[in-house]
Amino acid sequence: MVKKTTLKDVVSFEGVGIHSGEHAKAIIHPAEHNTGIVFKKGNHFVKANIDNVVDTSSSTSIGDGIVYFRTIEHLMASLYLANIDNAIVEFIKGQEVPIMDGSALEIFKLLENNYEIQDFPRSYGYLSNVMRVLNGNSYIMAKSSKTIDELSISFEGEFGSFLKTQNYTYNTKLGKPTIQEDIISSRTFCHFKDVEYIKNLGLAKGGSLDNTLVLTEKGALNQEGFRHIKEPVTHKILDLIGDMYLAGFRFSANIYSYMGGHTLNVKFLKEAIKHIKVIDMEEVIAV
Ligand code: ZN
Repeated sequence: MVKKTTLKDVVSFEGVGIHSGEHAKAIIHPAEHNTGIVFKKGNHFVKANIDNVVDTSSSTSIGDGIVYFRTIEHLMASLYLANIDNAIVEFIKGQEVPIMDGSALEIFKLLENNYEIQDFPRSYGYLSNVMRVLNGNSYIMAKSSKTIDELSISFEGEFGSFLKTQNYTYNTKLGKPTIQEDIISSRTFCHFKDVEYIKNLGLAKGGSLDNTLVLTEKGALNQEGFRHIKEPVTHKILDLIGDMYLAGFRFSANIYSYMGGHTLNVKFLKEAIKHIKVIDMEEVIAV
């Protein structure tokens, strides 16, 4: 798809925020071709853009100094994967994106095939340099992709206990439907041994087995178990896709993340933007 899109039909969703524990309700509206993704509360409009990121400690939050919107990454990934370029996300109640079932599945289903094509070319950010960004032991390496509309994301992580090392690759050009389904359905996860520590930090007030995959030494604490065995690593890719959409365009790059989280994702994005050439899809087909 080379044209920009917006939503065809307004959708709404509601539920508890995983960190605040507060109930929130949001409506997603169609928007003009040059809007991008914008969050709204009352008279405040905050663009989902790297410059408006205010916190990455446990989830990704954006704000304007007065209002801020928390845990936006799964919604951003849903909009990206559902091919939506322009939309306004209006909060009627609360300011944290509801965690739903811990994955992007429920919101994605509202957006899937619910787009309207706008008569403007879609922009891709083509990465022209090889780069490496570090944050402690974690790092992201990136290089150019072969074609303008290709994004490849590989993630490797150490998930402890029985899972050990997991890796997974998402590629827009080699996309078997199952790969996208694995990523969209993968839930937020944590280790059982960290639950008390996380709660003591005042985080995950809305966290429960209904919205979090809890890993033990032998498997999952959740009665239904894993949705698929690579659920932790595919969830990390979901988070990265959501964070990368804060660039305001679709990335064209080949990316490898080792143990990256929101802080590294945003650090990478800020650096990558310096090496990006934004290209309209209608102008250039391949490089
Ligand atoms: Zn997540």
